[in-house]
Amino acid sequence: MSRAKTVVCPACSTAVPLSELTAYKPYDRKCEECGDYFETAQPRARFCSNGCKNRAYNDRRRGSYVRKTPAPGEEWT
Ligand SMILES: [Zn+2]
Repeated sequence: MSRAKTVVCPACSTAVPLSELTAYKPYDRKCEECGDYFETAQPRARFCSNGCKNRAYNDRRRGSYVRKTPAPGEEWT
């Protein structure tokens, strides 16, 4: 018996490993901090890692992070 957790697709009844499901990252994004391309499950993700996110955040706090003003309604994450 496999120890890997699986979930059964309600549409096709195929058992899929849970790890595979959570690894599903349909969005291609370019990191705004380091410029690397990365895949993410979050359509609004802007950074490839927490490290880049924190670096961008810290740069912004220091006032050296030059960026155009976000459009109304756009969130700073
Ligand atoms: Zn990055």
